[in-house]
Amino acid sequence: MRGSQKRDYYEVLGVPRNASEEEIKKAYRRLALRYHPDRNPGDKEAEERFKEAAEAYEVLRDREKRQIYDMYGHQGLEGAGFRGFSGFEDIFSHFGDIFEEFFGFGRWRQRGPQSRQGASLRYELNITLKEAFKGVEKEIKFSKLGLCEECNGSGAQSGYGPETCYTCGGRGQVVRSQGFFRISTTCPTCKGEGYVITHPCPTCSGYGKVRVERRLSVKVPPGVDTGSQLRIRGEGEPGENGGPPGDLFVVVNVGKDPFFERDGPDLACEVPISFLKACLGGMARVPLLDEEEIEVVIKEGTQPGDIIKVPYKGMPILGRPDERGDLYVKVRVEIPKRLTEEQRRALEEIVALFEEPTLSNKKGKKKFWKKFV
Ligand SMILES: [Zn+2]
Ligand SMILES: [Zn+2]
Repeated sequence: MRGSQKRDYYEVLGVPRNASEEEIKKAYRRLALRYHPDRNPGDKEAEERFKEAAEAYEVLRDREKRQIYDMYGHQGLEGAGFRGFSGFEDIFSHFGDIFEEFFGFGRWRQRGPQSRQGASLRYELNITLKEAFKGVEKEIKFSKLGLCEECNGSGAQSGYGPETCYTCGGRGQVVRSQGFFRISTTCPTCKGEGYVITHPCPTCSGYGKVRVERRLSVKVPPGVDTGSQLRIRGEGEPGENGGPPGDLFVVVNVGKDPFFERDGPDLACEVPISFLKACLGGMARVPLLDEEEIEVVIKEGTQPGDIIKVPYKGMPILGRPDERGDLYVKVRVEIPKRLTEEQRRALEEIVALFEEPTLSNKKGKKKFWKKFV
């Protein structure tokens, strides 16, 4: 008699004959965790214990089957058509919802798809040169895929957790015979996920993700340049199968400034001075990007286009807060286009004191042609 070889179901689960449903469930959970095939790969003994416990639980959790068993034992169940389980796949497909409860969603299934990090996102942030100089905190707004809060990303309507795929029993793979070979392929029903969603979440239509609007405050440090990337960890799209979320890359674009030109850490600008100041020398004011104003020395006899280097008044250097580039001030000599009567008279009085340049100076001519030939 086959039935008599089986151990007593209460003994298998280690519970008294009057155990409550809760006690039975607890006992089974403990055994299922201990003898789970993913924890005991290739262990025949564990496999037998796992199957035995599943069978015992299947009978004792069901009022009708438990009653038959209590009265007539294993034979009684066989008479009622109960045959236990044929293997793991059978057990997993039968207890899918329970395993989910026991092990947390998806965790018991190790042969399923790998968890993947979510996609990284790119956001282009336009700032002014002034903001790049001083550093700035900007609020950015963007839309991304986020975890559906209604179903917590499972894709299933509440009360109907994802169910173990009936085709593959949760393995994500099916075995097909082809000639002499047995070929394992991705399950066509669940696409390898191992579970199916019978009642999709109405908010995300079973996708588990929805478009969400995100607002973030981004700190842009002083010294950034066009193309600088700020990486904000975890602000990309959510991961797959419990994988970590991707990152958000904020790519900075620094706009053109009407007064300053930038070359890496250095700045250049042009200041106008009068032709008299170019002759006599003096000071010229240069407003900087941080509202500071400096005065630069114009030497006597300054020529149009002369460049004055002001050390340490350029851009701050990214990540090196104590360092700065240089500032190059190009002198533009302004010659008045119109003179008042008084100005004209005054200039005419001193004109005799100056020599007119002559063509005998060939240096200038050579330079001119060198430039264009
Ligand atoms: Zn949802
Ligand atoms: Zn499947």
